[in-house]
Amino acid sequence: MTNLQLWQAVLGELELNLTKANFTTWFKNTAISFVDGEKITVGVPNTFTKAWLENKYHQSILKTLQKIVGGHIKEVIYRVEAVKPQTQKMDVPSITAQAAPEKPTISAEVPSNRFGLNPKYTFPSFIVGKNNELAHAAAQAVAKNPGKSTYNPLFIYGGVGLGKTHLLQGIGHAILGADPNKKILYTTSEKFTNDYIQAIRSRTTERFKQTYRSPDLLLIDDVQFMAAKDGTQQEFFHTFNDLHQADKQIVMTSDRPPKAIPALEQRLVSRFEWGMIADISQPDYETRNAILKAKCVEKGLSLDQKIIDHIAIIIQNNIRELEGALNKIIAYEQFQHTPPTLELVKRILASHVVAGRKSATPKQLINTVAEFYDLKLDDLLGQSREKRLAFPRQIVMYLMRKELESSYPAIGQELGGRDHTTAMHAFDKITHEVETSDRLKQEIEQIKQRLYN
Ligand code: ADP
Ligand code: MG
Repeated sequence: MTNLQLWQAVLGELELNLTKANFTTWFKNTAISFVDGEKITVGVPNTFTKAWLENKYHQSILKTLQKIVGGHIKEVIYRVEAVKPQTQKMDVPSITAQAAPEKPTISAEVPSNRFGLNPKYTFPSFIVGKNNELAHAAAQAVAKNPGKSTYNPLFIYGGVGLGKTHLLQGIGHAILGADPNKKILYTTSEKFTNDYIQAIRSRTTERFKQTYRSPDLLLIDDVQFMAAKDGTQQEFFHTFNDLHQADKQIVMTSDRPPKAIPALEQRLVSRFEWGMIADISQPDYETRNAILKAKCVEKGLSLDQKIIDHIAIIIQNNIRELEGALNKIIAYEQFQHTPPTLELVKRILASHVVAGRKSATPKQLINTVAEFYDLKLDDLLGQSREKRLAFPRQIVMYLMRKELESSYPAIGQELGGRDHTTAMHAFDKITHEVETSDRLKQEIEQIKQRLYN
């Protein structure tokens, strides 16, 4: 058991209760740097993070550590130090020097990190199920024939933790595997935006253009974050055109289809729809089972089929969470030096059972929906009947009824004093639409995920 694995188990737990922004801001570049009996030292990148963790997250960190390692951990301190990137093993003394030797981990190491690709995210390590077979097939077609197939651009969309980045990078690995001289650029829309802003500031837009318009393959992750950034969208529009005209392959991912990205220019929407759009949905039970088995092999963990079944039943909506569960089990196993029993695993994963049935307040729900559709609260709760407002408003009413089990009059009240019949109508309408539209069903799933995570 390395400190890295322990910290990852802790982060996996903390992540469940924080927004993505908070989690990344405060826990990026942190690591356990030292374990000494009952005291654990966490390395942080700067004093600001140190103060923040001490004041805001200390209790959660301590509790989570105790939950994983045991009650004998009494103290956690934070120290500013240059923390190596998380993907590298820390060569600090391991907490279990006397424990069983570390198990070999099987991973498909591909020497292509120079393009920012994670060596683990390859096609061979990607499990194909009904939920992702279309996206997987399209990704393979692109990898075989980049730029020339009708799949240009390829647009993959789906909820958090369902394998979009994995598949996207898998394309990169496969293309490099076939021809190591190919120029590949993997980036996120956030990085694209930041680079662009930076280039304008430092008057290096020519270099920026060269960088982004020269690769044979542009992989761009999470394009939904390009929403409402007009300058960036314009620049991306030109980048896209340049590459596409030169038969260079473009692959994008997003948490929703192009049309549903708020404030995305129409000309980009239509370009994103030019090639192939494929979605990834939530894995069914069989796929979850297969993924768990594969991850166990990868992590050198041998678990009873009964235990795997149990995990696959409890954790349903997200593959990252499945992995988090395995990491927790590994942490327990290594600290307690006993193979995990079903009873133990049930206990370890108890928080996930609760997590599946979490509660939320109407205010949280309203905020989540507003954020999801990129609307101002006042507009969402206001009187305008514009479709872009009226529809999300109906979604709020629907979810308040369905998820929070609020009464119709209470729903009307919460939404700026509307009549209860309005709420009833909205509930019936959306209930009906969810049954007939897969896309709406997925949107609602994603709103729920954001709400409860
Ligand atoms: P997303 O980008 O959709 O949020 P990721 O690609 O980051 O999700 O996937 C989250 C984790 O789940 C990664 O560790 C990834 O390897 C794993 N994963 C997702 N889908 C699969 C799959 N079909 N087979 C194996 N691992 C998967
Ligand atoms: Mg991703």
